[in-house]
Amino acid sequence: MIVEQVWTGNSYRNFNYLVACAETGEALAIDPLDFKKCLAVADERGWNITQILNTHEHSDHIGGNKGVVNATGATIIAHKDAGNRIPNMSRGVSAGDVIKVGKTVELECLDTPGHTMCHICLLSRTDQPGLFSGDTLFNAGAGNCHNGGHPEELYETFVTQLETLGEDTLIYPGHDYLVNNLEFTLDRESDNAVAQQMLETYRGQDPDDALVTTLAQEREMNTFFRLSSPSVIAKLVEEHPELGDSPDPKAVFLKLRELRNSW
Ligand SMILES: [Zn+2]
Repeated sequence: MIVEQVWTGNSYRNFNYLVACAETGEALAIDPLDFKKCLAVADERGWNITQILNTHEHSDHIGGNKGVVNATGATIIAHKDAGNRIPNMSRGVSAGDVIKVGKTVELECLDTPGHTMCHICLLSRTDQPGLFSGDTLFNAGAGNCHNGGHPEELYETFVTQLETLGEDTLIYPGHDYLVNNLEFTLDRESDNAVAQQMLETYRGQDPDDALVTTLAQEREMNTFFRLSSPSVIAKLVEEHPELGDSPDPKAVFLKLRELRNSW
């Protein structure tokens, strides 16, 4: 499996992806908003884009479908319930379905509601797994829920699915929000040395050559994985006494998600 992270350079800071089979040169385009860039990268590498996967229905994820389809005839895959929101979708997928790319690449579909209720993450079946996490999980952050999502569902997705992935899973999110998210982490947990160090190292990073984190790293510096951190809880309880002295992880997650919206 070859992964090409395509930085769009737009104001929403979208990342698009090409996932290719090294043997056949067939490629899957994930959320190819900047379809010209995606087509140019495929061209350069000698790849054929045969399929598109939309992680979810938002326009900054599906807006490049037409351009890719016109140029390549690729088919469009998305969550089974996204059909009325994504034009010309030809395959609807559910949890456990597998998307094959060429002869060597297999990507398992995870049904990950929360950011929207039709959100798919892809997990590669490779020695070191890769998670294409769309707007569910960002580097050092979590997706918002104010355009068709639900925070409770996002919490469930985090604890029942993302938390259970292997520590060495590589995280490929739909946007580059690393710096902003690390700043939020430090706002909530000022003694988080890992987040502090990472912010210093990557504050001025070139998104064309962005840091790819692992789940192990996320656990150390992503507030939404740090629901039992004593400093996260202490600050939250001090500011929001209505949470009680020892709020459960779900209450912590929901309050953090709410605070992130207005931060
Ligand atoms: Zn979105």
